[in-house]
Amino acid sequence: MINNLPPIPFYPRQCEPSIAPDRLATHTQSLSRSRRNIGEPDKYWPQHSTLKIALYDYEIDDEYVQAVIKAASHWLPHINLKFEFVTGDEGDVRISQNLAGDVGGSSKLGTDAKEKPWYPSMYLPRNHADPRFEYVVMHEFGHMLGAHHAHQHPEAHIPWDIKKIAESYKLTGYMNEQDMKKNLLPLPRTSTYDFLPYDPDSVMHHEVEPSMTDGNWGQSESWEISDGDIAWAHKAYPTPEQP
Ligand SMILES: [Zn+2]
Repeated sequence: MINNLPPIPFYPRQCEPSIAPDRLATHTQSLSRSRRNIGEPDKYWPQHSTLKIALYDYEIDDEYVQAVIKAASHWLPHINLKFEFVTGDEGDVRISQNLAGDVGGSSKLGTDAKEKPWYPSMYLPRNHADPRFEYVVMHEFGHMLGAHHAHQHPEAHIPWDIKKIAESYKLTGYMNEQDMKKNLLPLPRTSTYDFLPYDPDSVMHHEVEPSMTDGNWGQSESWEISDGDIAWAHKAYPTPEQP
């Protein structure tokens, strides 16, 4: 399971971007079309397939389901897959709501969702009216499509203060240190991953609070699919229309 960061209690979720001066140049370059993402091709779904996406405990016209569909559909113009949303517990992807009731989510990576089909493969926040809901859905659907965290790119070079983060995670009781590291630290440079250029504006990038680093590094959440995410999606699931 790939988890979102829990809400870190001492950090306001929707503050202005906190980008340290030495990162502004990099941030400005984000319009470059070369910025992309990290994928794991062995976990991509079959090309041009239709994924059956089941939501537990809802009617299809429920406001909650419609909010999930709307947010997830932001990926559709950029991939050659189709999503078929159904209610119930049978689907390639099975979505439940976060029992903890927090604002985070989690998802299996790509086709890992097929393992243990009697369990949910994705958890989403309960409150679809939360302004951050759409971002969380897009982020978790990115994992579901086979995308890893952009902040785990070996070229991200984020100077995490691991001790401090471990302490804050312990306080919230959200996940253990091993899982925390699995969700934050750079992925190994192996052929398992398709590393495209590092994209700090990716919807797959976690917010990085400067106090959780050596103090000189910060990144806000991007609440939209970035040009880099689109480039990744085109590479993972090429569409005939793409250049
Ligand atoms: Zn994530």
